[in-house]
Amino acid sequence: MRIEEELKLDFQDVLIRPKRSTLTSRSEVDISREFVFRHSGRSYQGVPIIAANMDTVGTFEMARALSQYQLATALHKHYEERELINFFQALPEASTVFYSMGITREDYEKFYRVKQEAGDAIAYVCVDVANGYTKSFVDFLHRLRDAHPQITIMAGNVVTGEMAEELVLDGADIVKVGIGPGSVCTTRKMTGIGYPQLSAIIECADAAHGLGGLICADGGCTSPGDLAKAFGGGADFVMLGGMLAGHDECMGEVAEIDGARKVRFYGMSSRTAMDKHAGGVANYRASEGKEVLLDYRGPVGNTVQEILGGVRSACTYVGAHKLRELSKRTTFIRVARQLNEVFGQS
Ligand code: 5GP
Repeated sequence: MRIEEELKLDFQDVLIRPKRSTLTSRSEVDISREFVFRHSGRSYQGVPIIAANMDTVGTFEMARALSQYQLATALHKHYEERELINFFQALPEASTVFYSMGITREDYEKFYRVKQEAGDAIAYVCVDVANGYTKSFVDFLHRLRDAHPQITIMAGNVVTGEMAEELVLDGADIVKVGIGPGSVCTTRKMTGIGYPQLSAIIECADAAHGLGGLICADGGCTSPGDLAKAFGGGADFVMLGGMLAGHDECMGEVAEIDGARKVRFYGMSSRTAMDKHAGGVANYRASEGKEVLLDYRGPVGNTVQEILGGVRSACTYVGAHKLRELSKRTTFIRVARQLNEVFGQS
């Protein structure tokens, strides 16, 4: 046993210090980014925010809505092959939509068949597993990269610099970072495993950038300010679940409870998700996700405007004309957490 004494931070442990700025309005800030991916060699231009590949968020409807704002979507894994083929074949070229998959033989075979028909319309793939530290995951990533040199691959999840480096070297263009911070994730409670998300972002970004790779901060954002902190910490992309949940595009049922309209939102390893997609929780594992009821929030467009407005405003506070400059202009100040945040309300 060993104890690491170095301080690790979450979003709520810091604020961003304002800096002298020549910007006069948020409208002067450009929050799109351009990248050329290390392995695929493809170019990207867009607002680097991605809807999570959860079945209540990463829907076709979400992808169509978000692409109007140049945001990206990682589709969930549970669509039928034919639906996926039809969707990708009709996808406008400028959209950024990830095909998501796990690492089983069936996952790959399904992808292979869909790709055969949809062809180059599938330009982005998200390979994700709860634990990106396993040899089987790394081996899969290698094989996928060898078979598809021109696809942009996002892979994860990991939380430490050495594993971010490993994944970049194994073929990931974007390393997905986050274990335990998700709004409906119970991994930290169920297993004791995790890593404070802001430190994970800072350390993985540093490692990946050193090798020409990129990172996507996945999980834990509850407000536009958290996105600003993630980008400020070096994230190239930010993935959102809960912040985009509860909208029309999530295709969830809206229920009337005590006069308020509510929508179910659940983790992809929750009992709810496993009952729905895997015929229940296998007897060797426990669920690592939970279900919550969210207020129904109407169309996602308003929420997107609010998020983009918050990130733009953060840029003006530190004098960043472009989102690309935000990280360089960010100084975090550590703040003492309120006791009731740490111990709960008394
Ligand atoms: P959020 O933006 O809601 O805080 O986090 C979204 C992320 O939570 C997803 O992209 C995914 O990485 C993670 N996640 C989704 N469902 C589960 C789950 O059931 N268990 C765990 N451990 N993480 C989940």
